[in-house]
Amino acid sequence: MKKPCSHLEVTEHHRKAPVHPSGHGCMECLKDGGDWVHLRMCLTCGHVGCCDDSPSRHATRHFHASSHPVIKSFEPGEDWAWCFVDEQLVERIPTFPGESPPVHYSAP
Ligand SMILES: [Zn+2]
Ligand SMILES: [Zn+2]
Ligand SMILES: [Zn+2]
Repeated sequence: MKKPCSHLEVTEHHRKAPVHPSGHGCMECLKDGGDWVHLRMCLTCGHVGCCDDSPSRHATRHFHASSHPVIKSFEPGEDWAWCFVDEQLVERIPTFPGESPPVHYSAP
């Protein structure tokens, strides 16, 4: 197995404080009235954005705009993390309370 990249290494072992999700849905889609499939949360700033199966792919766009490297799934029961820079996945990361939603949030 490949060793996780430095970003995922930090994500797995060296996070000291929780990030706070920006809201109960994709930040940009909520503003624009867009729809999404699944949600992802930026582990640098808590930006919640929609996945690449969604029409607007705001999580990926947030990475390109901000260079924040790692997202976590923001779906119930899913604690995987993905590094955009190295295109690597970790299947389960330790999380803090509030980082995983209790339910799937769908667009209003
Ligand atoms: Zn990385
Ligand atoms: Zn979106
Ligand atoms: Zn971010």
